[in-house]
Amino acid sequence: MRKTATRHLDPGTPPAVAEPAADSSAGVWYAAGLRFTCTRCGKCCHDREVPTYVFLEQDDLRRLAEFLDIAIAEVIEHYCDESDDGLVLKARPGTCLFYKSKIGCVVYPARPLQCRTWPFWPSNLRRELWQKAARFCPGCNQGTLHSRGEIEAACLQMLGRRGAGCLWPGEIPLPH
Ligand code: SF4
Ligand code: SF4
Repeated sequence: MRKTATRHLDPGTPPAVAEPAADSSAGVWYAAGLRFTCTRCGKCCHDREVPTYVFLEQDDLRRLAEFLDIAIAEVIEHYCDESDDGLVLKARPGTCLFYKSKIGCVVYPARPLQCRTWPFWPSNLRRELWQKAARFCPGCNQGTLHSRGEIEAACLQMLGRRGAGCLWPGEIPLPH
């Protein structure tokens, strides 16, 4: 089935990079790192009010194929839909196919990069947007402290990815 992934923008050419998100008193606001440990609550995986698309690239397909012990072609056949922006994980409305009640993500060790890098997406690297993400995701602001380097490395992994809806030009801090 061909889908139009309207929530996600194709970043195309890299957007103009704005000044790093900063406040006047402390420089880059996340310089001391940010805490995040996934609680595996599944809120980002199921019953989302707004359908969310998980875009897949070759590395994601390879990792899923190895984890499921099937061929990449089978991953595509059984677990993927095609959108105008490329392959996405199949999802019932608002719920990822890999989400199982009381278990959570059944491919967690092999989950796609889009899932692996949350919440360290460029769109969350403004203080107010981070706090907005934290209101949704209970893993934010608790657990493991991730350094600025780790945070920015995750953001860089997301930059330039097809359909990465987290890319909002002008809100993208990059390492110096
Ligand atoms: S909402 Fe946050 S804590 Fe819950 S499963 Fe998703 S990433 Fe993990
Ligand atoms: S692959 Fe796993 S972590 Fe990613 S949306 Fe699906 S259930 Fe959630």
